[in-house]
Amino acid sequence: MTTDSRVPVLLHRIGHSGTAVTPHFERWDFKAQRLKVKRPPDGRPAIEFSVVCTSCRERIGFRIFSEQAIRQRKALWRWCTVLSLIGAVAAVVLLVLYMANTAEADRLIIPTYGLAGALIAGLGAAAMFGSKASREAGVVGRGTSATLAKHQLEVWTVEEIDARLRKRTR
Ligand SMILES: [Zn+2]
Repeated sequence: MTTDSRVPVLLHRIGHSGTAVTPHFERWDFKAQRLKVKRPPDGRPAIEFSVVCTSCRERIGFRIFSEQAIRQRKALWRWCTVLSLIGAVAAVVLLVLYMANTAEADRLIIPTYGLAGALIAGLGAAAMFGSKASREAGVVGRGTSATLAKHQLEVWTVEEIDARLRKRTR
């Protein structure tokens, strides 16, 4: 399925208080609003739009990218994933070398924990960029990328819109 056959949808979380979060956010209800916008042709810059949320009357500004730009953005996120993994592997190698070449009594906390931290950070960044690569839909809005933001921008197929608008749960 190409992104071309999917349309952007603005989601407004129902019951979002602005501060309180719950670990069950994925079960929250939302109101979906289909955005009637067209992607720019390949080679053209992203188009800026704004839409008024039908639920809260807030105006949401967003940009929509061409299919070509989506492929480029996916490629960028994949490169970031690979670089993060390389960083994590380098941290492991350095940590092993440090442990092998330093007597236990001489080991310092900073290199040991620093390298372990770099490993965890590298793996975390790889997971984040990998997720961005798979979720990249070429629709970017201000304040809509955080998981618990009041508004989310997604792209759905027409069938998904029909099914999900009827259920109104994720
Ligand atoms: Zn809203």
